[in-house]
Amino acid sequence: MFDWTHDPHRRFNPLTREWVLVSPHRTDRPWQGQTEEKAVDTEPAYDPKCYLCPGNSRAGGVRNPAYTSTFVFDNDFAALKPDTPVERFDQDGLLQAESEPGICRVVCFSPRHDLTLAGMELASLRQVVDTWADQYAELGAIPWVRYVQIFENRGAMMGASNPHPHGQIWSNERVPNEPAKETQQQHAYTTARGGCLLCDYLALELRDGQRIVCQNEHFVALVPFWAVWPFETLVLPRAHHGALTDLAPDARDGLADMLRRLTRRYDQLFQISFPYSMGLHQRPTDGAPYPEWHLHAHFYPPLLRSATVRKFMVGYELLGQPQRDITPEGAAERLRALSE
Ligand SMILES: [Zn+2]
Ligand SMILES: [Zn+2]
Ligand SMILES: [Zn+2]
Repeated sequence: MFDWTHDPHRRFNPLTREWVLVSPHRTDRPWQGQTEEKAVDTEPAYDPKCYLCPGNSRAGGVRNPAYTSTFVFDNDFAALKPDTPVERFDQDGLLQAESEPGICRVVCFSPRHDLTLAGMELASLRQVVDTWADQYAELGAIPWVRYVQIFENRGAMMGASNPHPHGQIWSNERVPNEPAKETQQQHAYTTARGGCLLCDYLALELRDGQRIVCQNEHFVALVPFWAVWPFETLVLPRAHHGALTDLAPDARDGLADMLRRLTRRYDQLFQISFPYSMGLHQRPTDGAPYPEWHLHAHFYPPLLRSATVRKFMVGYELLGQPQRDITPEGAAERLRALSE
């Protein structure tokens, strides 16, 4: 008899058409979740040397305003530039390249240098949600911008160079790989079955319950059935919305509440400020309606068993396919057991 909690198997991600290998028997050893000594909070509320703190100067001598809530500026070291000349290269279809214009912005979530999403007040988190929505609308309205990618790298482990709470927004002319796959898959699902892929998936998860982490009136956080990272989560609005700009004020409060509750659970897991990459996926901004698109956020945390033991994507995962040991159900159970 096959045992899904024990025997090796693979699971399908309907958003990307990719498979993940699950090897739960490798965690038959008892849960070894050790907690490290809690790091002493050494960050000051204001750091005179931080280029993101209010009133400080950045690269090139630009001075930040004395901002009091969120603050957005064009990245001084942008990976993309809006005035990139148009060029295309194609040799026998094997060597293809094309110019890629874009705009990269930085969003400071708070003037406080020592906060994280988990430590911010609900009203401040709501301002972050509103800022994201405004930026999505503003950048998406630029005729050549077809995708607006909002994301946050949290923690030195994820390459965040500055502890000041901030995220980034990269908007560019062509839809990047991940949202392009999701656009195709959501469209194919709606064409074949009539409904919305993520509305149907959420309904199924709410009936089942074993992968749900937490929920409020408007949003649900769950460990997806096809999660690759040990404590990966997907945050979904209960209602069918394709972008942040479609969210009514109470739903925006709901997203702020969900960000706070989920990040506070993460911080409890190994008793540290939990590192992750997170980002929002919304419908492209090329002017097409994309009625099949269902807004969501992904959290991809790298940690596996403790504050220092992280998952690496190496060997078989680079050459074959992603693999995980603890089941998504086991991960959800651990996250569910924590307080907020
Ligand atoms: Zn700062
Ligand atoms: Zn939907
Ligand atoms: Zn996505």
